[in-house]
Parts: sequence; C-alpha cells; structure tokens
Amino acid sequence: MVVSKRIVLHFPKRLVDRPIVYRLVKDHNLEFNILKALFTQKEEGLMVLEIKGEQKDYDKGIRYLTKSGVKIQALSQDVTRNEERCTHCGACITVCPTGAFELEPLTMRVNFNDAKCVACELCIKACPPRAMELHF
Ligand code: SF4
Ligand code: SF4
Repeated sequence: MVVSKRIVLHFPKRLVDRPIVYRLVKDHNLEFNILKALFTQKEEGLMVLEIKGEQKDYDKGIRYLTKSGVKIQALSQDVTRNEERCTHCGACITVCPTGAFELEPLTMRVNFNDAKCVACELCIKACPPRAMELHF
C-alpha cells in the first residue's frame, strides 16, 4: 500500500549538514517533497516534508530518521488563532521558529501568518490567554 504523509523533522545542530533526507530516497525507496526548510534561533534545522512510498518503506525510513537522532512530528494537526482571545501581547513572536508572527509597528498588533506555521505547538503554551489552538 502506498502512503503519502506530511511530517515535521527537527534536526539537532550536529545533524544539520548531514545528507540524512537524501538517504530516504537512496536506501528506502521513498519520494519526498520539501515543503519548508529553515533554521531555528537555536540553530536547529526544521524541515516539513511530504513523504510518499510503500508503507513498509515509510516505516523503515521513519525508523532510520529516529535512529539518526531526528525528532519527528506528524503534521496531521493544524494550529489556528482565536482572534477574540488574542490580546496582541507579543509573547508568541520570539518562540515561533518559523516567524509566523509579526508585529505591525504602527498599530502594535501581532499578525499571524498561518502559511508559515508548521504546527510545532510552541506558541500554544507561550500564549497567556490561550488564543492559539490545536485542531486535529
Ligand atoms: S501570545 Fe497569544 S495573545 Fe499574545 S500576541 Fe501571541 S497569540 Fe496573541
Ligand atoms: S505552532 Fe505556533 S510557534 Fe509553531 S510554527 Fe505554528 S505559529 Fe509558530
């Protein structure tokens, strides 16, 4: 059975320049599409991938990534902002690794760009009025 899944990979600093994702193709017969790739403020790598292949190859590929030290998160959830709860306090701006929040200097309002969000959930605990919500 062929599966297609979207996952978030968190690479520790020591793995950032290693060809780990390339080996998914070479050794595990998987196809992948990089949807987003960036470095966080802690110099960790973060990559959102769409992976396609046979279920058994997918399972082997995930085991290989985990054994290599990559942290994997399924991207089956979505993070949204409850606009009525947001007080525009700015606490989320520094915790978001993808820069999904931006302060608008003139109005001092915090804009949320959900196209940049990789659903890492870091803003959820950081938001004092609990305006950031996780949906499955
Ligand atoms: S931390 Fe929460 S309340 Fe503060 S700006 Fe971000 S989303 Fe709004
Ligand atoms: S879940 Fe929150 S902190 Fe994580 S990428 Fe999305 S907006 Fe940024």
